[in-house]
Parts: sequence; C-alpha cells; structure tokens
Amino acid sequence: MKFSLKSIRQRFGKICRKFGYGIKDRVVALCLGQSFHAYRYTKEYKNWLSRFAVTAENKVHIPNIEFYLAYGCNLKCAFCSNLNPYRQGIVSKDELFDSFGIWSQKIQPDEVRLLGGETLLHPHYAEIAVVARKFWRTSRIVIYTNGILLSQIHNETLQRMANEKIEFRISKHLTNKSYNQIIADATKRFRSFGISYVIGNDYKHWSKIYKTDQNGMPIPSDSNPSVAHSVCSSKYCITIIADTLYKCSFIANFRLALTEGALSKDWNAVLSHNGISASASQEDILAYLRSGYTKECSVCPDKIEKIHASQLSIEDLKRIRQIVTQ
Ligand code: SF4
Ligand code: SF4
Repeated sequence: MKFSLKSIRQRFGKICRKFGYGIKDRVVALCLGQSFHAYRYTKEYKNWLSRFAVTAENKVHIPNIEFYLAYGCNLKCAFCSNLNPYRQGIVSKDELFDSFGIWSQKIQPDEVRLLGGETLLHPHYAEIAVVARKFWRTSRIVIYTNGILLSQIHNETLQRMANEKIEFRISKHLTNKSYNQIIADATKRFRSFGISYVIGNDYKHWSKIYKTDQNGMPIPSDSNPSVAHSVCSSKYCITIIADTLYKCSFIANFRLALTEGALSKDWNAVLSHNGISASASQEDILAYLRSGYTKECSVCPDKIEKIHASQLSIEDLKRIRQIVTQ
C-alpha cells in the first residue's frame, strides 16, 4: 500500500470524524506541547476575533448581538446566566427602538438576537422583531424563547414573522411530556408558515457559571482573569443595553441585576466595567471588542462545572431574595 502525506491526512481525518473532532485537536495540541483546552481556546477565540472588522460602510461587523426584551422569566432555572429567576420586568419598546436606531449606525451584525428572560412575555415582541428587521435588512433576526408560550402565538403573528423572515431559537430547559408536546406543536406550525427555527437542548449542556455559597447565593470568584475568560462561553455573547455595548452578556446582566437590587454588593467589582458607548468611534468599538479578558473576569470561575439542569424552588428563591435585601 502506498502512503502519501495526502492519504495519511485523509485517513487521519476519517478516524477523527469517526471518533469525534476533539481527537484531531487533541493530537495537534499534544504535538504543540499544549493542553487540549489551551489549544482549543486559542484557536476558537482567534477565529472569533478574526470575524470583527470595520466594513466598507464604516460599520463594525459583529457575528452576533443580543438585545434583552424581558428580564423576568416563566421558568426558574438554577444557574441561569442572566439571573432572570431573581429579576422581573420588561424593556420598553421605545427604549429598544432608540437603541436599534443608534446602534444600526455603528454595527453590522450577522445575527440580531432578541432574548430574555422569556422574550415572549413582552407584549410587543413581534413589533420589536419587525422594527429590528427595518434597521438590519440583511441580518438574521432571531427570537430566543424557552418555548412555553409558543402555543399562544396567533396565526397572524406567525404570518408576520414569516413575511419579515424572523427566525426562532427554542432553548429547551425541561424534558417533560407536556413541554415536549408544546414544542412539537409549535415547530409544526413554524414549518407550515415557512419559519426557520432551531431547537437547542440547553438542559443537556448546563453548567455552573458562578459559584454559590451554602445558601445557594451567587458569590464572586477570585480567579485569574485570563483563565476565567478562557473557560467561559459568555464572551461570545455581545450585548447592548440602551446606548452601551458590553463584550459579554454576564457583565451586562450582573451590573443591571446589582442596580435592580437582585444581587448582593459582593459583586460590586463588575461595576468598574462600563462597556463602550455608541458615541465611540468605530475604531474604538472594534478595539474594545478585540481586547480580550478584563480585570472583572476574575469574578468568574476558572473551571466550569457541568451539572444537571434543574428548577429553583419557591423556597430557594425566597431565601436568596431575603439575603440580598438584608
Ligand atoms: S428559561 Fe432561560 S432565561 Fe429563563 S430562567 Fe431558564 S435559563 Fe434563565
Ligand atoms: S466577565 Fe470575563 S470571564 Fe466572566 S463571563 Fe464575561 S468574558 Fe467571561
């Protein structure tokens, strides 16, 4: 049998595909004398950063941007990354429209994510999606939902979503039969209207993104910020709140939760991260997005612990709220 470099590479690729792509990276990492994790992080993060640029229209190209419509949620997932079980309320549509207007002059996202809390709790979510489409004609506009309220969407609204090419992302957090049935029925309706959707089995990939004390109260870590940044996934969630852009959803939400009184003052360290204002130049926005970890990353854990997804009980919530307000 003749072995050329090409055939060896092809065979290697075939084996890797059979046993999982992780193997290829593990071998390359081993050859480079790096840990698998360090190799993957460097590779993924470099790829991510390479996607940012100032376009010919003088806008900052961004892979995805997040706008929050609601902070309350109809589920109470333990370790919700945005602390939504402890928060409430919606963002006014006028604030969101202003924000779209300001930021559409500055950024060109591939994907605009409208999310929460539970997005469908917002009485004007459909109108907000349609207005987002007006500002970003060529971007994907995606409504994120946990799916519980999908059966309540009227056909007229679905038709409107289909006309405007609005997509849905159903983030699954439960596994019971009735929940699965709601999602099965909703996706059938999406298909009949020609609406694109994705189902994310989020409950299968759940992890503790912050430490907790013996009362279940979120407590900040004291990590090496560069290590914490290397293991976190929120760094890929660029978030806009009003006229400020944050390069990670965690900082944006924990800052807000603090000001809302939903989080203890132990977290005050996140307040020193101010994001970047829409009045900044495109070059400054780009530099901010590419600037990697910040000192505030030290509040995040340096190891991500995988856990089974679960819902907080009313007692859990009461206890946490009591501690925060003490
Ligand atoms: S459904 Fe999503 S937003 Fe709501 S509590 Fe669960 S993780 Fe948080
Ligand atoms: S603060 Fe840093 S480590 Fe924490 S979620 Fe944001 S980017 Fe990740």
